[in-house]
Amino acid sequence: MVVSFMFLKRVRGVRDILPSEAEKIHIVVDTCTDIAKSFGFREVILPVLEHLELYLHTLGETTDIVEKQMFCIMPRGEHNKDELYVLRPEGTAGIVRMYKENNLKTIYSMRRFFYFGPMFRYERPQKGRFREFYQFGIEIFAEPPVGSDFVIIKLASLILERLNIKYELEINSIGCINCRKDFINSVGPKLEKLKHRLCNVCLQRLSKNPLRIFDCKTDMLWLSKEINVMDLDIQKFLCKNCNKEYEETLMLLKENNIEYKTIPTLVRGLDYYNGFVFEFKTNLLQAAQNTLCAGGRYDGLVSQVDAETKYACGAAFGIDRLVEVVQYLPINAVTKVGIAIVNDNYFHKAFSFIDNLLNIKNAVIIGPIKSKSLKAQLRIFNNENCKYVIIVGDEVKYNQVVVKNFEKNIQNVVNISEINKVIQ
Ligand code: ATP
Ligand code: MG
Repeated sequence: MVVSFMFLKRVRGVRDILPSEAEKIHIVVDTCTDIAKSFGFREVILPVLEHLELYLHTLGETTDIVEKQMFCIMPRGEHNKDELYVLRPEGTAGIVRMYKENNLKTIYSMRRFFYFGPMFRYERPQKGRFREFYQFGIEIFAEPPVGSDFVIIKLASLILERLNIKYELEINSIGCINCRKDFINSVGPKLEKLKHRLCNVCLQRLSKNPLRIFDCKTDMLWLSKEINVMDLDIQKFLCKNCNKEYEETLMLLKENNIEYKTIPTLVRGLDYYNGFVFEFKTNLLQAAQNTLCAGGRYDGLVSQVDAETKYACGAAFGIDRLVEVVQYLPINAVTKVGIAIVNDNYFHKAFSFIDNLLNIKNAVIIGPIKSKSLKAQLRIFNNENCKYVIIVGDEVKYNQVVVKNFEKNIQNVVNISEINKVIQ
């Protein structure tokens, strides 16, 4: 019989995150969390499973996610075959649902929230692009444009600065439904002329949603050169109000020394956006996966879901990409202490002062380990970079142990009640 080892292989596009990588993820996420909290954001934990319907109604049918990237699940044994679940591909739709379903606007007067967790998209795995990846997201509900946009940009730039990551901020305004309609009417015929050069997906988009073509990674390689020639600048179509808001946002960024580049074709990949949109990019990753954080306003979506809430904006960080490019991480200093036993007779006694050790600031306790020679135990503690080793042997009769300082290579007999004074 041929034994298949498939069951021991991980699924394509997902990763096993080993301890050193997990530690980096947490340091990055802790940095994001600290900064978000300092702007009054509160954490929410979103479910991983949502109804397929949620995304069909919010993201837009011509978006990459809805067209081809969703992991759908049919719950086993459920009678209603129409009920399909999805492993969430992003966080905004879920948090809008959470906001409405739990009536968050009546609980909190400041509606600023953040979340962290895995997202799932069926796409071609490559550097910086996975099928299971992690996002940290921030969302602000019920705060009008300009101020809330500025807070999101400021917060995102602070996170990147704290992590020492060089970035470029690209911004645009895609206007409200009205200005977008005018733009689409003007841009449609111009793109029609370039039909022969468009990829198959964009050919479909041409009739359904021409703006989405600007989000195509392949067509934009040549189309970006045509923008000025073809006069495809959405900013020229902004209505008076959208233009005023956009100008004020630019002014606020300038006053606060936040550098940016305006990109007239930046439309973002999801239909729910309106007005101010942005991407924080890096040149530290490959060209196609160079966006570290992206977001914008989605006033239209939130007011559709909850008529009393007129405004919303937010951003999501790709944590995997941040971890990939981060240069310097503030590592938490710990004091590792090994507990060795001269022989197995001292095994139980060696557990008796663990509480004492836990009182030591940032202590990490390793051992005791049964059935190993003292030499073998010391080797493990050395490999683990323990600063101290406590050796439990005959001295326990007098409530004493040997404390060895591995770094200084000195050892002393110490009363168990005084361990905390010796180990620091
Ligand atoms: P991209 O243009 O790279 O496909 P996107 O527009 O699909 O990104 P968003 O939906 O805006 O991405 O998600 C916000 C951030 O999440 C991205 O800027 C990126 O850092 C990260 N991200 C998105 N998809 C993936 C993925 N498959 N693997 C890893 N990170 C991802
Ligand atoms: Mg994508």
